[in-house]
Amino acid sequence: MADFDKYKNFINMYKSKQDSMVSDFKSYRYFLTDQKPEGYVRLLPANSEMPFIPFAVHKIEQDGKYKYFLCPKKTAFLMNEDPEQHECPICDNIIKLNNKDIEKQFAPKNRVLFYVLDILALSEGDKEPKAFSLASNMAMELVDLINYNFELLDIEKGKVVKILMIRDNRGFPRYTFEITNKAVDLNTIADLEMTIENNIITYPFGLEDVYPVATTEDVLTIPELNPAETILNKEAVPDKEDNIAGFNEWLNGI
Ligand SMILES: [Zn+2]
Repeated sequence: MADFDKYKNFINMYKSKQDSMVSDFKSYRYFLTDQKPEGYVRLLPANSEMPFIPFAVHKIEQDGKYKYFLCPKKTAFLMNEDPEQHECPICDNIIKLNNKDIEKQFAPKNRVLFYVLDILALSEGDKEPKAFSLASNMAMELVDLINYNFELLDIEKGKVVKILMIRDNRGFPRYTFEITNKAVDLNTIADLEMTIENNIITYPFGLEDVYPVATTEDVLTIPELNPAETILNKEAVPDKEDNIAGFNEWLNGI
């Protein structure tokens, strides 16, 4: 049995930090599409302490496309660490400019990364865990489902969750989550592309480094968070970009 108290503590901590609800939607590594909007998954704990990984990104428009940069400061806040221990060129310059419009436009947005096993893909031989990332307001539904049904994270008895993607009238994907009656014991699935030992899952894509407790530094190196490129080590300081267009221009240079 997993130590669910750890997960519960983390969920409560995360909920208490939900200070900014944002309305932008993007999932990394889609396994739901308009042609196949329904998914059946087993939830996998992100590690022994957390059922998911909270992080934050700055959303920047470049040439009509959106680019995402991990925000170390806000991520640290969500990870219950001291944000001031981390540098973020975007946040640091936003503070310096002291412009409410820029603050509003470029503030970091909360996101949540889940790991799931796609049950339909599993039956077709794809045994790789998938990353599923949601804007925090969409993720809260799933967080709530976990909060009231911790057995979903139980490696032996966890039940399959149905995810349905529906586009709203603006074309943004929305998700509903529903627990099914079907339980899948992860121990019984041979050749999973992950190993399970003492109820701790080790993923094939580098998350081993995150155990046992993820830190902000670990989160910044999680490959699934690309294309949310880290902005660490980027140096650029705007001189007098004191409006949205000017600030965006500076950001285009980083
Ligand atoms: Zn930032």
